[in-house]
Amino acid sequence: MTRLFNFSAGPAMLPTAVIERAQQEMLDWNGSGMSVMEMSHRGKEYMSIASKAEQDLRDVMAIPDNYKVLFLQGGASMQFAAIPLNLLGDKTSADYINTGMWSKKAIAEAKRYCDVNLAADTSEGGFTTVPSQAELKLNPDAAYVHYTPNETIGGVEFDYIPETNGVPLIADMSSTILSRPIDVSKFAMIYAGAQKNIGPAGLCIVIIREDLLGHAAENTPAMLNYQTHADNDSMYNTPPTYSWYMAGLVFEWIKAQGGLNAMGVVNGRKAAKLYAAIDGSDFYANPVSKADRSWMNVPFTLADAGLDAAFLKGATEQGLITLKGHRSVGGMRASIYNAMPEEGVDALVAFMQDFARNNQ
Ligand SMILES: *Cc1c(COP(=O)(O)O)cnc(C)c1O
Repeated sequence: MTRLFNFSAGPAMLPTAVIERAQQEMLDWNGSGMSVMEMSHRGKEYMSIASKAEQDLRDVMAIPDNYKVLFLQGGASMQFAAIPLNLLGDKTSADYINTGMWSKKAIAEAKRYCDVNLAADTSEGGFTTVPSQAELKLNPDAAYVHYTPNETIGGVEFDYIPETNGVPLIADMSSTILSRPIDVSKFAMIYAGAQKNIGPAGLCIVIIREDLLGHAAENTPAMLNYQTHADNDSMYNTPPTYSWYMAGLVFEWIKAQGGLNAMGVVNGRKAAKLYAAIDGSDFYANPVSKADRSWMNVPFTLADAGLDAAFLKGATEQGLITLKGHRSVGGMRASIYNAMPEEGVDALVAFMQDFARNNQ
């Protein structure tokens, strides 16, 4: 059996130790005589798994007590609608920062429910920068400010948390959550689809400050109302039990690695090595301005796109897979989330250097 270095943007690699643990526990979880998949979500075994996962996430992210942590279905995309439904209250307008494909999707959905004020929009520059704080045109009467700290497709990432002067700040952290420490108290709500840096697909985590609950529009479906899920510990209906369990194993693994400080050190080093390889050669290029480059998703192009197919074939032969760029960007994209070992990045850099030498 060989596990390859899989650079997929999501669903993405999981730590091997986590998959091995799941394998060990597959047929009989902790002497229960059942697989986790076969448990009632209301039984005492599963309840202990669920509450431990939540506690471990709270510990890892240092989530303050006045925040609820929800384990939901529907992915990050479902929140694009749930956010305006829950958080507009009696306001009619919300601020959105447009920095790429995922911001655009959130904006398109929000427009069905409210006036969207584009507080900044970097589309004209081809989404290769993030706006500075001074460039944000925030509306003090907005219901909230929504942004995407890391754009998974364009590979741009905010290097600061926007100051919104008391307007609730909402972040789609699908592709950057758990990559390094963050101050949760700066946010009104953080959400993330699990399949990038948390666990298997099918789960979306929402971290929301309690005072934001209870203001949903009258016609909000019960399943989209955060209050429903907060009141029921995310068990209003059957939650994605196995994905929740797997996420819990990932949180334990992060703790064992030394928490988010340790993850941040390794992730910073992985990204620096890969960008150095790109910048150090005329053969490769990354269009994103240096301060705004993502630690997690690294798009790059070859000077001669005619060599793309040979690059991908050669990489695959070295066990470096899923490097093809997003169809909207072309070229390559290496996603290097927490579970990508540093050796995977080292192997990619070595292959890139060899390939450039042999094709110059
Ligand atoms: C992947 C991704 C999404 C979509 O997630 P789903 O769980 O598939 O809905 C949204 N936002 C960002 C930033 C993403 O990377």
